[in-house]
Amino acid sequence: MTTVQNLIGGERVGDPELARHNPANPGEIVAVTPASDASAVHAAVSAAEQAQGAWAALPAPARGAILLDAADLLRSRHSQVAEDLSREEGKTPAEATGEVRRAIDVLRFFGSLAWQASGEVLPSAMPGTTIFTRREPVGVAALITPWNFPIAIPAWKMAPALVSGNAVVIKPAELTPLSVAHLSNALVEAGLPAGVLNVVHGTGSVAGDALARDPRVAALSFTGSTRVGLGLHTILSERRARVQLEMGGKNAYLILDDADPLAAAKVVAASAFSLTGQACTATSRVYCTPGIMEAFLAALAKEAEAFTMGPVVSEQQLAVDVSAIDVARAEGATVVTGGDVPSGQFLRPTVLTGLAHTSPVVRDEIFGPVVAVLGVDSYEEGLARVNDSRYGLTAGICTRDLTAAHHFAAHAQVGVVKVNRPTTGLDLNVPFGGVKDSSSNTFREQGTAALDFYTWSKTVYLGHE
Ligand code: ADP
Repeated sequence: MTTVQNLIGGERVGDPELARHNPANPGEIVAVTPASDASAVHAAVSAAEQAQGAWAALPAPARGAILLDAADLLRSRHSQVAEDLSREEGKTPAEATGEVRRAIDVLRFFGSLAWQASGEVLPSAMPGTTIFTRREPVGVAALITPWNFPIAIPAWKMAPALVSGNAVVIKPAELTPLSVAHLSNALVEAGLPAGVLNVVHGTGSVAGDALARDPRVAALSFTGSTRVGLGLHTILSERRARVQLEMGGKNAYLILDDADPLAAAKVVAASAFSLTGQACTATSRVYCTPGIMEAFLAALAKEAEAFTMGPVVSEQQLAVDVSAIDVARAEGATVVTGGDVPSGQFLRPTVLTGLAHTSPVVRDEIFGPVVAVLGVDSYEEGLARVNDSRYGLTAGICTRDLTAAHHFAAHAQVGVVKVNRPTTGLDLNVPFGGVKDSSSNTFREQGTAALDFYTWSKTVYLGHE
């Protein structure tokens, strides 16, 4: 068991109060953290505010160098960090190793970007005048992060915030404190000045709420549930602070007759069961045109039965998953495979069919390894079903028909479209985000687009003889 304290102004503080258990072995306590109150959060914001000016005054490549050194440190601890991530979140060793690799690459990407991120030089209509724009840091950026990518999401929010000259206060998910501890330790050991990065552990309703309400927080980036995100949106918008929200999803896949049923089944299994179905980009509903339904369903059942999955993250989440399967059964659905919990928090990959499009199992986010397969008569009906959702994060289509693929890319109401590729799995150098209730519909994350959220543009008119 590891004690993970808060990091405030370079000091490790706070008493151990909250315990996190290993979801694969619930008797084992993995870590204990403080349950920070508003005063700890305010102290963290004060430390950030004090440190930010000197940090922003450093040349950008000096800031980037710290991110690059932190990446090297994480790389040297890769297996230990992955093991801890697995123990606190439940990912399989391969998934955890991949996620840590992603955090390392994110630090490298933004660390290197420090050499080129800048404004523009533009002509002026006024004689003897040149215009240039500067990217100014927003000041203190607050990050509230979920448990499902406990190191990658903090890294992809922290890295663009820090490299742009902001100070950061992060409130990690209660379930996964160790991963952020590894990330912040690497940054501190790489030379990040005290106060530039502060970590406050605790519950969302106390520590998270206090962070969102602190008027010195200029921008808040949040990933989590739609319910919490919409509340944060109101708090931040009332004081006209910036807010970036990545929230829920009910991601859909459309399988057309011309697709290869085996290939489509592999794509959907990876989309639905990777990370135990606990990715915001995971597919949880699939629409098939009539000619492929039977072959696809049989192939998907085989893929599901062979899939290696970690445990569900918590007892509460397991209860949500099981209750969705119970609702499906009560509605007369067929459980094609899975649907049971052979041990502990290990739910089997579950494929359902025979549900109505209006079923809550098809409409509401579950966030587990449960996928519903439904029939549609045509591509047009499938597209309409895909779009008939309050959410709009990702969607996919399996087809060899380029016309259909392009039409889908243009008309799917989502932030990310995948053609013949799993809805899960993103590259780090391209924009990521959703539309509708999946997003604040403001700023994108990842790639150079991430810098837009953490900076504002100042326009300078420079007169010369
Ligand atoms: P999940 O269902 O994935 O746990 P949540 O939205 O509940 O999603 O949690 C995501 C993050 O938001 C966590 O760090 C959590 O502590 C935090 N959080 C939860 N409730 C609040 C709140 N009322 N105010 C601020 N942060 C919150």
